[in-house]
Amino acid sequence: MITSDMLLNIIENMAHVMKENKEYLTELDAKIGDSDHGINMDKGFSAVLEKLPSLKGQDCGTILKTVAMSLISKVGGASGPLYGTAFLKSAGVVQGKMEINSQDAVAVFDEAIKGVKMRGKAEKGDKTMLDALIPAYEVFKESIEKGEDMVKASFKAQEAAYDGVEYTKGIIARKGRASYLGERSIGHQDPGATSSYLLLKTIWNTLDK
Ligand code: ADP
Ligand code: MG
Ligand code: MG
Repeated sequence: MITSDMLLNIIENMAHVMKENKEYLTELDAKIGDSDHGINMDKGFSAVLEKLPSLKGQDCGTILKTVAMSLISKVGGASGPLYGTAFLKSAGVVQGKMEINSQDAVAVFDEAIKGVKMRGKAEKGDKTMLDALIPAYEVFKESIEKGEDMVKASFKAQEAAYDGVEYTKGIIARKGRASYLGERSIGHQDPGATSSYLLLKTIWNTLDK
């Protein structure tokens, strides 16, 4: 069970991890984009961090919705509205709930991916964040259905996301700025897939305490 306090903890840790990886994600974006992915993620999550104190005691839906609004309003790049829509769609699943059980978590993850797809019209294999998120969701769901707990399921999810990041190195970008490079995008890992991996790893690290 993830309580609303634990959810706030996860989000706070996500903000720290985005700050720690600001240069790394920006360097990845320098190779196939416009050198701002780390800057965008840090900017968005810094705005989120400022909102966290006011969210204490609020339900999980309100928390996720507030994260969504901060990301959408503060980030100029593609990733802000994409991650923002992911958080916004997932908020709907846990509206009014003070805790997220395993089944809710599967639904939250599913809605998040639907949000990214709806907003960005990308699919698996287009060299985007979805190449980390979709395989992570699949193993997460399978793990929960097997009766494993969220610590184990989130461990497996971040592992699958890592493999997804590796997979992006070998494929051509078909969406976003990297797609302008065509074949020249091959050989570089996708920045957004990398931030998705880091966010999922943060969920695992926070739950595993
Ligand atoms: P921008 O490209 O506007 O500068 P960022 O650099 O912050 O925005 O984010 C780039 C990342 O966004 C990419 O690495 C990719 O993972 C993701 N992305 C871009 N377009 C899409 C899309 N249509 N669907 C899903 N993810 C996308
Ligand atoms: Mg960029
Ligand atoms: Mg940009």
